[in-house]
Amino acid sequence: MRPFSALLGVLALCACAAWLAVAADTAKKKSEEKSSTKSEATKPVAAKPAANKPEVPRPVAAKPTPPPQPVAALTPKDTPVAQPAKQPPAAPAQPVPAPPKADNNVLNRSTVKLREPSLDEKPRITTPAEAPPKDVTTSNRATTRTMESKESGEFDKSGEEEDAKAASRASKSKGTATTSSDMAGWELYRYQERDYVSANSIHKFYRFNNLDVDGNNVWFRSPVLVMKATLGSQDLLINNIKFVLSDPVVELKGKPCFSRLDLCKLIDPVLRPSYIGSGSTFDTVILDPGHGGHDSGARGIYGYEKDFALKLAFALKAELERRGLKVVMTRRDDTFISLSGRVAYANKIPNSIYVSLHFNSGGSSATGIETFALTPQGASSVYGARSVDAYSFNGNQRDSENIALATAIHASVVHHFKFVDRGVKRARWYVLKGLERPGVLFEGGFVTNASDAKFIAADNFRSELAATLGQAILNYRRALQPR
Ligand SMILES: [Zn+2]
Repeated sequence: MRPFSALLGVLALCACAAWLAVAADTAKKKSEEKSSTKSEATKPVAAKPAANKPEVPRPVAAKPTPPPQPVAALTPKDTPVAQPAKQPPAAPAQPVPAPPKADNNVLNRSTVKLREPSLDEKPRITTPAEAPPKDVTTSNRATTRTMESKESGEFDKSGEEEDAKAASRASKSKGTATTSSDMAGWELYRYQERDYVSANSIHKFYRFNNLDVDGNNVWFRSPVLVMKATLGSQDLLINNIKFVLSDPVVELKGKPCFSRLDLCKLIDPVLRPSYIGSGSTFDTVILDPGHGGHDSGARGIYGYEKDFALKLAFALKAELERRGLKVVMTRRDDTFISLSGRVAYANKIPNSIYVSLHFNSGGSSATGIETFALTPQGASSVYGARSVDAYSFNGNQRDSENIALATAIHASVVHHFKFVDRGVKRARWYVLKGLERPGVLFEGGFVTNASDAKFIAADNFRSELAATLGQAILNYRRALQPR
């Protein structure tokens, strides 16, 4: 299969690509070469050729209606694409006007580069990415916390439970009472104390070819980039990769609208990672195998999460080193390390990013891949109380890098293995809150699901997963390089 290269297509990447990409063909070939010498009990399904994986469910997100082109077919590898950084959108598409400055200094620092490509434009262009939502910095007495005193929030949870919560949050639908304004070309609306931006503005700014509303579905289409949202839902598909928005898409004044927070904290950094700025300079990856010692993590069909996480970490370490990156690990054996210990360790490593490796637990039917970035300030988590929404944590200094890293990792794995796509999600997990470097928490399937567990327990599956993750991390670094 052809690698899906220009991830988010025109807007995101140039020839470098592979942003939302599958791993290189070489990784696949490598795994195919490994023959089925394992016993039946441990023979991994993933070791079979890609075309022969009937046991693996197709991603839920892979069947939108009407279906966009398959991701892999959207653009050939290395197709030269437009460079959005140097081509600001044509009038009248202008970005959201600059809001009051966030009191998060690092956020401002990390977005300095975002402004550079646009300063010469008339009228001045300020990109959405540099515009933290107004309601965060004005309506809340936002204070910066390093982290909550209680070590909580990292634990695994039932898939069904979380899906139910997400569904209930997404139940809000069409908005009514709104105030609207049209500032600097963006259609802005106020709804439930938040700013919203019309789909039409997004369509123009990012230069999609078409914007179509089909029932409750909102489609943005360009030759290499298809984005689908649904009114009343927090699910967003970008080239068939699922993201969970902070706020449901609503209809205001007859127009589909996205919260400004989602525009700034999710859509923009995912569509234009090269605008993020400071994140591409790392040379070290901190691998954090979840759990350890008396904390076994999830108890799976074939073993404990802590053991699989450690094995995956060592395999990934080798892959990253092979690619020229330095690797450090929060644990190298079956030792218990506190969450605060992991954070303290990570924060001492310069020029680094952080990847926490976990496997999930849930009901026997819960399956698939999910990747977490820290919830932005002012947004609700997939889990947890709204009461902490107002706070900014250390990790929020890296919001754009966090979501970009999560995207690179999640998309690569979902595309490569065709696992169920549970989405790129937000949560205030303890380790993510405390990090001062870009970081994500990756959940590589359910040890409690019969199909997932077979993969996870297989050495050659974990090797292939490690190769995919290793390539994804390089994709991330490449995608963030300014153009
Ligand atoms: Zn875990």
